[in-house]
Amino acid sequence: MRERKTILIVASSEEDREKIGKILNKDREYEVLEASDGRKAQDILDTRNDIDLIFVDIILPETDGFQFLERVKKNGGTAHIPVVVNALSAMNGQIEKALSLGAEDFILKPYYDKALRNRAGSVINRAFHDRDSFTGLYTALTFYGRTKDMLLKNSDIPYVMMYFNIKGFTVVNDFYGNEKGDIILLEFSAILREGIGVKGTYGRIIADNFVCCIPNVRGNEEVRFFRYVEERMETLRKECHFNLECGIYKIDDTELPVSVMCDRAKFSLMDIEKKRGERYAYYNVEMAERYRNEQRIIADMEQALEERQFYVMLQPIYDARTERPISAEALVRWKHPEMGVIKPSVFVPLFEKNGFIRQLDLYTWEEVCKLLARMQRNGSAVPISVNVSRVDLYNPGIGNAIEALLQKYQIPKNLLRLEITESAYTEKPREFITLVSNLQERGFELLMDDFGSGYSSLNMLKEMPIDTLKIDMQFMEELSSSQRAGNILISIVRMARLLQISTVAEGIETREQLEFLQNVGCDKIQGYYFAKPLMIEEYEKLMAQEALHTDKENVYKKGILLVDDVRMLRCSLRDALGSSYRYFEAGNGREALEILNESVRNISIIITDIFMPEMDGFELIQKLQGNSVFSHIPIIVITASEERENEIKALEYGAVDVITKPYDPVIVSQRVKNVMKMSETEWLQMEMKLMNGSVIS
Ligand code: C2E
Ligand code: CA
Ligand code: CA
Repeated sequence: MRERKTILIVASSEEDREKIGKILNKDREYEVLEASDGRKAQDILDTRNDIDLIFVDIILPETDGFQFLERVKKNGGTAHIPVVVNALSAMNGQIEKALSLGAEDFILKPYYDKALRNRAGSVINRAFHDRDSFTGLYTALTFYGRTKDMLLKNSDIPYVMMYFNIKGFTVVNDFYGNEKGDIILLEFSAILREGIGVKGTYGRIIADNFVCCIPNVRGNEEVRFFRYVEERMETLRKECHFNLECGIYKIDDTELPVSVMCDRAKFSLMDIEKKRGERYAYYNVEMAERYRNEQRIIADMEQALEERQFYVMLQPIYDARTERPISAEALVRWKHPEMGVIKPSVFVPLFEKNGFIRQLDLYTWEEVCKLLARMQRNGSAVPISVNVSRVDLYNPGIGNAIEALLQKYQIPKNLLRLEITESAYTEKPREFITLVSNLQERGFELLMDDFGSGYSSLNMLKEMPIDTLKIDMQFMEELSSSQRAGNILISIVRMARLLQISTVAEGIETREQLEFLQNVGCDKIQGYYFAKPLMIEEYEKLMAQEALHTDKENVYKKGILLVDDVRMLRCSLRDALGSSYRYFEAGNGREALEILNESVRNISIIITDIFMPEMDGFELIQKLQGNSVFSHIPIIVITASEERENEIKALEYGAVDVITKPYDPVIVSQRVKNVMKMSETEWLQMEMKLMNGSVIS
């Protein structure tokens, strides 16, 4: 065996290299090699096979520290060499990234001699010896060995493996200094030592991760021990704002290598995020299954994109008033050759973590552009919205990328809309507003997705150039059980109206939900009630039919209900009012009510005669005024000139205006216009009043 161990220091600054070398090698017991960049370091690794430990700066010229680290860990000849990274700051996820790439530990700049000596000493000791000289605890390898011995010797006793993590430790180092971080590590070690003693085994695996294996004869020993550790760390925890977390594996298979037992305990840390309150979680088989699945998904993603296993489905969005499809949302799916169709809720979060979502979204957008181009040629294109991942908040190139696609397929901007989730705002408000403003300035139509699921307030909408709000599905689920959900929904729609932002309600599954939203004044509806996400061909068929069969002109016209028993008179009114309205006709009050029950949303004004068979105009007005669904529709009454008393009676009952026969067509038309305008202004004022008392936050 070689006498002297060899340490490789990779840093661009000569001063740094010297400093680290001096501290590490105080007693000149190691051979120290230096490299100023990743490439030179790689050359050394290629020519010498006796490197025992590497210190590397994250920021390097040529290849950066991450790339270097990745290469070292991917190469079978060098993967075993412990690597310590030197990072500038713990704040931007560098440390997490380095550890996830396989680094053993990290050191933060600037290097304070004592801290560096402590940390570096401990790493060297863990790499070269069986105890971590800094904390005095077992290193991983020793811990595995001792634990194996203990389990073999006491095979009749149940044991439990606990994996501790100090959540927020890197931030502590950054905010309170490495010295404070060291104190926490030392304190934790002391607690393990005193709390476990000779009953079990314990050690430090890496950085701020400790493990222990303790007997569990009474059951729930792990909970008692966790509480004990928590209690003793409480003062430091409060002072430095970190959290203790613990993943637990109740050892049910003593044949397993101890390192695998540790991995299982570590695994369950992932479940803590999802649980509220408890800071510990248990390993279970489904969790491992899920993890394996996730690894599989990540391993397969690139090939899947190349082989076009991802495809787009389209869910039509309907106009609440006309109940016709007017746009759609693109939703991605993955047809995996072995795992079958995978939903985006499974892979999108994983791809957001590793950044692959950008490539996938670009692919999805392009597929949508191809579809839009085809539909445009057929004259059946309506706007489609695509999802923009939160990851794109950091991507200044996204506007250009989408514009390039639109250019390539010759698609006008208003056909491709962009959905950005509200939770992205909650996470990074400033970046969110920057991105949204930038896209808006470029002329994109923007939708805020999942609105109401996060913590943003309605007030923020005032600063945000958003065109449409998509109201989170959760409100629909709660609608039947919670009055509050209904009230919040109502104020969201009202506020949006006032700010001239349109609203889409998502997740509508029942007629009742639909009617509620129609009454509330929500503009558009998306949900299984109308349509599930459709395959592209189905969607194209639907929209082609829609283009043929709807009289698009009529859909957006305001409706007038004409009630008169003389058909001729209804005709002459229609002539007087012209073709800018859509007409509904009834021969008496009863028929009028039937029509209203059918299509109340399409009717903006009612013009009624007084004397009719079955149900006269007075009775109709009274019925309408007494019904909360109809009472907001303005009514104009037509009377003969000699009926002054009837005129007064009609106004008393609630008619907004009276027209006397014979009428002048121009005057009639103007009066109807005025009533329409008045009812809109009145409505707005009413909303304003309501709003002042009911802004949610
Ligand atoms: P989202 O943007 O909120 O999309 C709406 C989800 O609700 C879709 O699920 C849709 O199928 C589902 N949905 C629609 N109507 C109903 C209904 O009436 N009831 C119920 N229970 N669900 C309904 P999907 O397709 O599984 O997508 C899930 C999420 O994945 C999306 O939520 C979106 O955040 C993300 N996603 C989907 N496609 C993409 C994509 O291409 N890029 C990105 N970045 N994210 C995507
Ligand atoms: Ca969406
Ligand atoms: Ca949504």
